[in-house]
Amino acid sequence: MSRELIDLAIERLREDFPSKSKSWIRRALIRFMKNTVKEYGENVWVVKGLPELGDKYLTYVVRLRDGRYYCSCFESSWGLRRKSEICTHIAAVILYRNYKKLDSEVYASVINIECVDYFLEIPSELKGKVKVVRSVRVVDSSDRLNPRHRVTYVVYSSEPMEIKARLICDGEVRELSLRLARTRRYIVELLVR
Ligand SMILES: [Zn+2]
Repeated sequence: MSRELIDLAIERLREDFPSKSKSWIRRALIRFMKNTVKEYGENVWVVKGLPELGDKYLTYVVRLRDGRYYCSCFESSWGLRRKSEICTHIAAVILYRNYKKLDSEVYASVINIECVDYFLEIPSELKGKVKVVRSVRVVDSSDRLNPRHRVTYVVYSSEPMEIKARLICDGEVRELSLRLARTRRYIVELLVR
């Protein structure tokens, strides 16, 4: 397991559950690091119980249905209390899924520009197949109404491809031919942070 990926996976978990405590995150992390999460089928995971975290059962089953997670610990004697919260079995599954996603292969191309006004146009038939993320930083704000930006675009897809794109930078139009090369999803995330 890579430290950088774990940090990013935790960051995502925190963003999704900003009101959760440090100890909730810590327990989820312990479950994840102890390798207790196994994928059992589509949208079903089995989480091994950890007595040191108060688990009474050997295993717990987490399911994702209609965008909501359910854990078998909801059905235990503490179920009523627990149902209103997201248990750390579920949090461990989310962490596991975040990690897997960040570790997955993608095909990407990076564009760096400095402009006042900018726009990247991807052919409309590729929408849904190709994703674009960007980070924007102001590098020169001496003209306060027209600050200059450094923009990083990452164009990525789940398959290798070559695409045409149009980049507009301060009124100048450039036709680009982008070859999406193999990398991993977390690299994309790091590039646009
Ligand atoms: Zn649970």
